[in-house]
This record gives sequence, structure tokens and C-alpha cells, in this order.
Amino acid sequence: MKRTFTCIVCPNGCEIEAEYEGTEVFSVTGNLCPKGKAYVTQELVDPRRTIATSVRVEGGTLPLASVRLTRPIPKARIFDVMREINRQTLTAPVRIGDVVIRDVLGLGSDVIVTKHIEKAQ
Ligand code: SF4
Repeated sequence: MKRTFTCIVCPNGCEIEAEYEGTEVFSVTGNLCPKGKAYVTQELVDPRRTIATSVRVEGGTLPLASVRLTRPIPKARIFDVMREINRQTLTAPVRIGDVVIRDVLGLGSDVIVTKHIEKAQ
């Protein structure tokens, strides 16, 4: 089979054409580096994504704090994890690196804060 992938490993966003059968990749073209083939293989075997979103903050100078995952999770679990993140409310102050959810849904990735929010006066 042939399929075109857009590599998301770096900002180059190479369009990679891959020939494969099942999860075995026979050839790739269009990738500027070897990471492209690894990305295509990962996409076929176990596609993963990361999430960057925000969480409500009570008593802060801003109402939301940006958060992200520390490791990509299976693409099929994105909505489950978003539901867990949307249930959270933090209390100011919050600090970059604060863990909002450790090992979210047992997927081996933490949800951490990426923006300082000070306590409102
Ligand atoms: S193939 Fe390499 S250069 Fe191209 S987007 Fe992927 S990581 Fe970047």
C-alpha cells in the first residue's frame, strides 16, 4: 500500500510517501532525515499525540493556566484524557512544572502547568 504522511517531529513538516504492508514499511521518500521513517512506522504501529490545552484557575490573576503532557499518548485516548483535564480546577498561585494529573489514566504521561499564574490581590 502507499500513503502520504506529514511528519510532525520537527517544523519542517516533510511530506513522506511510504510503501508498506500492515505495519512493515518497505520504503519512504520525501523525508529529510531518518526520524521520518521512524515517525511513519510509529504512526502505523501505535500512533501517538501530545496535548497542549488549559485548565481553570480559581483565585488567580488569569482564569486559565496552560498545560501540556510530558509524553505523547495513544491517539485513540486523546478524548478520554481531555475529559480528565477538563475536570480539573487549580487554585492560584500555580507554577510552571506543577503536576495537575500524575500518570493520567495510567498512560505514563503527566499533565503539567506551563504558565505561572499569580494569586489575585
Ligand atoms: S523527516 Fe526529519 S526533517 Fe522531516 S519533518 Fe520529520 S524530523 Fe523533520
